[in-house]
Amino acid sequence: RTERPSTEVRTVCPYCGAGCEIYLGVRGNRVVSSRGVPDSPVNQGRLCVKGRFALKFVNSPERLKKPLIKVDGEFVEVEWDEAISVVAERLSEYTGEEFAAVASAKCTNEENYLLQKFTRAVMGSGNIDHCARLCHAPSLTGLRMSLGSGAMTNSISELGAAGCILAVGTNPTETHPVTSYRVIRALRSRARLVVVDPRKTRLSELADIHLQNRPGSDIPLLMAMCRFILEEGLHDSEFIDSRTEKFEDFRDAVMALDLDEVERITGVNVKDIRRAAIMYASNSPASIIYSMGITQHVNGTGNVLALSNLALLTGNIGIKSAGINPLRGQNNVQGACDMGALPDLLPGYQGIGEAAGKFSEKWGSPIPPAGLTLPEMFDAARDGKIRCMYIMGENPLLSEPDIERTREALEGLEFLVVQDIFLTETAELADVVLPAASFAEKDGTFTNTERRVQLLRKALDAPGDALPDWQIISMIAGRMGREDFDYESASRIFDEIRELVPSYAGISHERLKSGGIQWPCTSEEDAGTGYLHSEEFPTPTGRASFLLPDYQFRGVPEEYPLVLVTGRNLYQYHTRSMTARVEELESFSDHEELLMNPADASSMGIREGDTVEVTSERGSLRVRAGVTDEVMEGVVFMTFHFADAPANVLTGGDRDPFSGMPGLKFTPVRVCRV
Ligand code: SF4
Repeated sequence: RTERPSTEVRTVCPYCGAGCEIYLGVRGNRVVSSRGVPDSPVNQGRLCVKGRFALKFVNSPERLKKPLIKVDGEFVEVEWDEAISVVAERLSEYTGEEFAAVASAKCTNEENYLLQKFTRAVMGSGNIDHCARLCHAPSLTGLRMSLGSGAMTNSISELGAAGCILAVGTNPTETHPVTSYRVIRALRSRARLVVVDPRKTRLSELADIHLQNRPGSDIPLLMAMCRFILEEGLHDSEFIDSRTEKFEDFRDAVMALDLDEVERITGVNVKDIRRAAIMYASNSPASIIYSMGITQHVNGTGNVLALSNLALLTGNIGIKSAGINPLRGQNNVQGACDMGALPDLLPGYQGIGEAAGKFSEKWGSPIPPAGLTLPEMFDAARDGKIRCMYIMGENPLLSEPDIERTREALEGLEFLVVQDIFLTETAELADVVLPAASFAEKDGTFTNTERRVQLLRKALDAPGDALPDWQIISMIAGRMGREDFDYESASRIFDEIRELVPSYAGISHERLKSGGIQWPCTSEEDAGTGYLHSEEFPTPTGRASFLLPDYQFRGVPEEYPLVLVTGRNLYQYHTRSMTARVEELESFSDHEELLMNPADASSMGIREGDTVEVTSERGSLRVRAGVTDEVMEGVVFMTFHFADAPANVLTGGDRDPFSGMPGLKFTPVRVCRV
C-alpha cells in the first residue's frame, strides 16, 4: 500500500557516494515516498532501488529514542541531562592517546568536522578516523603522492563524453547504480569499455574487452599496459615533458618487465593486455573509474599509483571526461575525509605541521600530533593503550576485519560511547548509547564522490528524544567546559569550516539552496570546479609524478587454496543497520551466499544451496554455497552484509604500509561441505 505524501522535501539519498538528489515524501511525520529530483545534475531524476524504496528505515519502531546507560549489564533509559553528565564526566578521566573517536561517512560534513575538533581540541587526541580507512584510504594516499590531491578528478556526468572508460575493480551496477547508468549511456554514444575485474559483472558483459585477472595482480597488468602504450608510441610526450616528473625511471622499469611473468601472475594473455592498452590510449578522452577492487589490498596504494601512471602517460588528466576517478562508497565518505576525520590530516587535507597554528588559534587549544588509523586503534585498545572510545554512526564489530579481535578490543575498553540511530551490534557493547537523528531529520551537507557539496534538509522530526549528531557532540563539549561548541545551527558550523578550509571557502548553506557546488570553490564568485588539474598540479613543483608501485606476488598456502574476495550487493548496504529494516529489500536479498566457480564446487563435491564451512587463518563460518561462473576458478566471493555469516570473521592480517588498508580483497581460505 502506498501513501501519498502531504509534503515533499528536496534532500540527498543517504546510501552510496553517487549522492542522488531526492524529493522525500512525508505524511504525518513519516517517510512515505521518494523520487529523484528531475533537474539534479547528479541523477536527473533517476534513483536505484535503495534510493527509491529503502528510506522507510527512518520510520522503524526499532529506532533509538532515548539515551541508554548500561547498569549491571542491562540498558536503562535515561534523560539527556543524565546521559551527557555521565559521558562528560567519564571522558574527563582520559586524555590524549588513551582516547579515540570513530567518525562516520553516514554523518554530515558539519558532524564529522565537529567530532574531529572535539577529539583534537577537547580530548587532546589525534586518534580520529573513519571507514574511509577500509575503502579509499589508498586513493587519498596514492593520488596525493602522484597528483597532489586525493579526490575524483572529474565529474560523473563527464563520463558521458568519454572516448574510453577503463573500469578497474569496480562493480557500479551494484554499488553505484546511477553512476553505472552514465557509463551505459557513454557506451551507447561512442565510448569503448575495458573492464579489469576477477569477477564477471553486468558491466563486464558490456565491455569491449574484459581482462579477468587474478585477485592481487593489478600492478603487473597495469604496468604491462604502460609498456605496450610506450611500445606503440601512444604516450603523450608533450604532456609528459611539460607537466610530469620522474618519467625516465618509470619508463626504464616498465620496459624491463618480464611479460611471461606478467602472464603467469595475472592469468591474462598479454595479447589481450596489449589490445586493452591500445584501446585506452587511442580513444581520448579516456576516463579511469575504480573502486575497492583496487584499494582493498595490502598494496592498495601501489595499485592507485599504477592507475595514475597510466593516466599521466597518455595525458588523460586535466581535461574534461578523462582523469582518474575513485568511486566513493558511502554517501559522505568524501566529506568525512574533507573534514579531517583522519588521524594525520586536518580539515581540507592541511598537514598538521603546516596548519596546526591556524587551527590552534581558531579552536583555542593546541593541536595534537597525528594519531592512529582505525585498525591501529583497535590494536591499541586490545593492548590497553586506548581505554576509552567514542563511535559515531559506525558498526565496526561487523565492518572491521578480524571480528573476534575487534570484539576483544571493544570489550576491553573501560568506557565506550556509541551514537547511532539503531542499537547496532557495536552499540550492544557500549556503556552509553546516544540516540541520533537520521539524515531525514536534520540539516547539514554531504559531499558526493565527485566533490559536490549538497544540502541536506530536515524533512521531519526525529523520534523520541533523538538529536542530530552535531547537537549531541556540542552538548558533551559544553558540559566539559567548552563554550565554543555552542553552535546555533549546522549552518554556523559550516561557516567555521569555510573559514578554515580554502577549498570550501566560497560555499555556504545559503548558496547551496540553489544547488550543489563542487570543490575547490574558493570565493562566493567561484562556481566550483568540474574537473581538476587543468593547470598546475597541487604539488610542491606543480608537476605530477610517475611513481613506481612496490609489488610482491602473493600466492596462497596449500592449506588455504582459495582466495576470498568480499564486497557488496545492490539490495543491501554495509552492515544492514538501515537496509535490514526495509521489507522490500529483504525480499531480494535476505541471506548470505558464498559464490564459487562450478569447477571448484564440483572438485569439492559442493552443490548449489549446500551449507559449507569457510575457514581462514583467523576464523571460520558456515554459509550457503552459490555456484556460478561469475567468479573465476580459485576465487570465492561473499558480501559483508549479514551478521549471521559475518565475512570479516575471516579477514584481517597484513596492511598496506602507506595507508593502513587491510587486504580485504585477498584472504586465503579453504571451503568444505558440512
Ligand atoms: Fe542512492 Fe546511490 Fe542509489 Fe543514487 S545510486 S539512489 S545515491 S544508493
